[in-house]
Amino acid sequence: MSDTRRKIGTLDLNPALEHLRVPESDLCWWCGDIATTAEHRIKASTLRRVARTDDGTIAPDNVFKKSSDYEATLQSLKKGAQIRWRKNLCANCNNNKSQPFDRSYDHFEACLVEHIDEIFGWERLDWQTVYGSDWQERARNLARYFGKQLGCMLATQQLRVPDELIEFLNGSERCPSVLFMLQINPRAVEAHEKMRSDGFETGLSDFVGLLEATAYETRGVFSGIDYGYHIGYLWFIAQWRADADVTSWFDYQEIDLPRLSNE
Ligand SMILES: [Zn+2]
Repeated sequence: MSDTRRKIGTLDLNPALEHLRVPESDLCWWCGDIATTAEHRIKASTLRRVARTDDGTIAPDNVFKKSSDYEATLQSLKKGAQIRWRKNLCANCNNNKSQPFDRSYDHFEACLVEHIDEIFGWERLDWQTVYGSDWQERARNLARYFGKQLGCMLATQQLRVPDELIEFLNGSERCPSVLFMLQINPRAVEAHEKMRSDGFETGLSDFVGLLEATAYETRGVFSGIDYGYHIGYLWFIAQWRADADVTSWFDYQEIDLPRLSNE
């Protein structure tokens, strides 16, 4: 990593980022068509899972959201800035082109929820046990799901979406400037085990959320971003660093599941 890269803080409403922002746009950041749709910050099906009560009812006020600008139960699972990124994708990109990404995410999530009492004990994850023989493309599509989230987050903040990320979403096999990795949060594991012993059947799998994203600059130029999302104790991290050349979770059939440090 370049030692001239400077951490400039979190994204939301941060005046320290003003000089990095690009002009407001009504175009799809992925393909350049007119943007007509707003992507969910957390997938709609995940929100519905979290919002479902034991009797099968799905209601937004079953979901409590806490963030820098909000702390309450949700008003809606479908609409609003608390639920969606800004309108910055066209319908084709948001609904059609990204379908394989959604399928990979859905499959992984189902697997995680099913094995929530086991995965925290794993030192490594074997993609083939999750996705079968075509694990590599499906693990790549899982990364593309989060790559799309990263793009929506950047565009929402009027920060430039890296070209390489767009090429990756378009089918490029690698995205060397973005590190996609999985990590286990040991403190969340403790919370999960406590909930299970207190009789909560789903444990921490109903706790989903986003990391407060951090941006970086190098000599006044936008040069890095940290994106993080968790389901229960498992974190999905995407770190973009301009000029980096790193391997990611889809480059190996088996990957480590490192424990998150306190940072
Ligand atoms: Zn588009």
